[in-house]
Parts: sequence; structure tokens; C-alpha cells
Amino acid sequence: MVHIRTKQEIEIIRSSALMVSATLTEVAKFLKPGIKTISIDKMAEQFIRDNGGIPSFKNYHGFPYSLCISVNEVVVHGFPGEYELKDGDIISVDCGFYKNGYHGDSAYTFAIGDVKPEVLKLLRVTKQSVYLGVEQARDHNRIGDISYAVENYTNRIHGYGVVRELVGHGVGKELHEDPQVPNNGRRGDGKKIKEGQVLAIEPMINLGTRDVKTLTDGWTVVTADGKPSAHFEHTTAVRKNKGEPLSSFAPIEAAEQANPELNSSHYYAEAAV
Ligand code: MG
Ligand code: MG
Repeated sequence: MVHIRTKQEIEIIRSSALMVSATLTEVAKFLKPGIKTISIDKMAEQFIRDNGGIPSFKNYHGFPYSLCISVNEVVVHGFPGEYELKDGDIISVDCGFYKNGYHGDSAYTFAIGDVKPEVLKLLRVTKQSVYLGVEQARDHNRIGDISYAVENYTNRIHGYGVVRELVGHGVGKELHEDPQVPNNGRRGDGKKIKEGQVLAIEPMINLGTRDVKTLTDGWTVVTADGKPSAHFEHTTAVRKNKGEPLSSFAPIEAAEQANPELNSSHYYAEAAV
């Protein structure tokens, strides 16, 4: 069932979504080579709880952590653990924040130190594709218009693999609501979208093949060819003329640029679209 949210509900979702952005900003300040990914998860969980929220992902269908941390060839749903970040890694951090009855959901991929230019470009293109999808989240468009915008830019223009097994989604009282928002599709296909819907738009884009596999832990999704994958996500309100991101990358980007351990040369202003 698709939900149309009131203005008041959308403002509560915005508060949760901005708290996800604040959490990812703390992550951006914290990241450096040598830290274990479990320590990022612990820091973020403490930050979420200190701000009166509940980590949306913890215990969601049994997921054991507050963040999904997906390094290099891990696409999504990676477990935080004993792995120590090293120079040249990329790390996708996906976070959900629940407060006052509503979830926010957003993700960002960071580059640690000396990351190859072709991988930095993957990050830049994937981030840009989120905004191209958001732009299509307008009243009377269809889900396929969002999907097409993402796939056209990332695959047809840049030749990357667009993951099909995992998709964006409605978000609100539940973390995952209808409708599904695939990152591939055709213009004019799929369900009509209406002003007041809130969608998580989240391209998962691979440097190589689009094929993925799930590891034996039942969660961790990796690229079939072992090449890196990027993931950016905005909780997005469907508006009359174009979608409006309710989460924000701006504070994350500011922290990323201020952290000398991070490579922010893939930086793209939100105003770019
Ligand atoms: Mg997410
Ligand atoms: Mg999501």
C-alpha cells in the first residue's frame, strides 16, 4: 500500500532524515585508515541514541548492527566488524534513524586516501544519479521515470553496472514501504507517483558487471566480479515539479572536505542539478 503523507508527517520524516545526515556527518569526521568498521558502528549507534533516536536497521529482520558498512566490492548490507580501513578503500555507509514514529534512510560512499581516479569517478557519477532520480520524483510521473533517469546516466552514458536485485522503496512509518523503486527501467513504466509520497532513492552502481551475489551470512551483497560498488541514497518527498531531498549531503560533504584522511575530489554540490 502506498502512503500519501501530510505536511506534518513529511516534516517529521525530514527530522529523522536529517538526523541520518547528521550521523553520516559524524562518520565523515571519524573515518581514517586503521580504524575497525565495528568502531564506526558503535560510534554511530551512540550518536543516534544520544539524539533520542533508534537505529532503524538494528534487529530489522535480524540485522545485527546500526549501520550497513560496505567496503570496496561489497555493494550493500555489509556487517561492521574487525576489518581495518586502509588507504585506497571506498566505504559505503547506510543508516536509518527512527524517532516520533517515522524513519529516515540515507547512504553515502566515502573514499579513504589515495583512491584510483576511475573509482572516484564511480562515486561522483553514482552521487549525481541520485539527484537525477530525485528530479523525476514529481507528481504524476511514474516510478519508471526515476528508474530510467538513474540507469540512463550510470549505464548508458557511463557504462556502469546497475544492480537490479536491490531497489529503493517508500519510507515512513516503516523502513521499507511500497512502492519499490528500481534503479533500472523505462520511462512511463510502473506505478504513478503522487505529491506527498516519500521515497528512498538509492542507486547501487558497480564499476564492472551488474551481477551480484550474497555471502553465506545471508546479508552481505558483493559484486560478482570483485570490482568496487558505490551507494548513495536520499529520503525524498514527491513534490509538484520535482522531488525534494529530505536528507542532505551538504553537512556530510563539509565534514568530508575537512577530513584530510578522506578524498573528496568526487565532491558535487547539491545545487549541481
Ligand atoms: Mg538506506
Ligand atoms: Mg533504503
